[in-house]
Amino acid sequence: MADLAMGPAVAPPVHALFADLLALPVHSAGKPSLAENLLDVLEICAVAAGLKACHLQGDGHRDPERMDALQAIAHRHQLLTRRTPRCRPEWSPDASATQTSPTRTGPRLPTGLLEPLQRLGDTKRLQAPDVLWIYRDPATSDLIDAAVAGQGLGALLGYPRCCADAHSALAQAWLAAHVAALQAQHQPATQEALLHLLATDAPVDPAHLSPPVLAAAEPSAARLPFVSFDACAACQAQPDSPAAGVHAPLRAFAFALSRPFALHLWQAQLAESGAPADADTPCPCGSGQGVVRCRWPGEDDHTEHTAQTAAHTTRAPPATGERATPDPGLDAPAALGSSLGPP
Ligand SMILES: [Zn+2]
Ligand SMILES: [Zn+2]
Repeated sequence: MADLAMGPAVAPPVHALFADLLALPVHSAGKPSLAENLLDVLEICAVAAGLKACHLQGDGHRDPERMDALQAIAHRHQLLTRRTPRCRPEWSPDASATQTSPTRTGPRLPTGLLEPLQRLGDTKRLQAPDVLWIYRDPATSDLIDAAVAGQGLGALLGYPRCCADAHSALAQAWLAAHVAALQAQHQPATQEALLHLLATDAPVDPAHLSPPVLAAAEPSAARLPFVSFDACAACQAQPDSPAAGVHAPLRAFAFALSRPFALHLWQAQLAESGAPADADTPCPCGSGQGVVRCRWPGEDDHTEHTAQTAAHTTRAPPATGERATPDPGLDAPAALGSSLGPP
């Protein structure tokens, strides 16, 4: 039992940070996903423990009050923070032709449109509210600048290259579908007219929109609940994938922080992905036991957290089933500003 995915020993300062983060309300109007808010707690603690380089907040769903509170807590615990514009998306002219493309079919973005779309996206990003970065090592600041400029966000957040590329390609596929729908619906005569439709957020009739056909069967949150990215189709097809390699230490860390917290996060991910667990579902700690019977060493140390997470668990999960990745195809500003971070 003892060698089962035991997390690293968690230092007292990280536990103090964890307790402060857990004291924030996990239900937020601006950021309605319980799973996302619990993942934020895990990620910020992972930054403090040196398991992750940085945490990005406010890139998708956004709660300004919660962002302020997270920033204040990070400062109190000697973490560094910055506010910047959202990251420039990393687009490629042939995204839908790459091996990691998450889509099988669908419209391609006209090559000549990539640059003008990036410029339009830059304007919109600079008008949008800032995002918040939380990190520990001052040297990370240069990597944040590069990510904001459109280089290396996935690596900075610790995502496997294949999954980050697949996410970028999917965002680009949604944008291509959006552009194709605008063209079919409004029949702009020139590229300028098309860009004007995008700049003014011309609405798209869903009847004209053909969503990208996905290669992966489903989002991976239920199987890899302790990370905030979706595994690419290749990673979902193999147990020893790069995505699983990133997930394993964060899962162990979540259980080392607090077993009730880890189970709460896992249950929130299952509930929001539509696959809730019952008592016999194998515990995500890796013991092989059913989740109700499984006991984790050291859980008695966190009775306070137990009470708190139990209180949260009694509430219903958000009915919307919000996922970390907003659907960029339904919203041109989101598509143009879409990077690949979690919300
Ligand atoms: Zn992958
Ligand atoms: Zn367990």
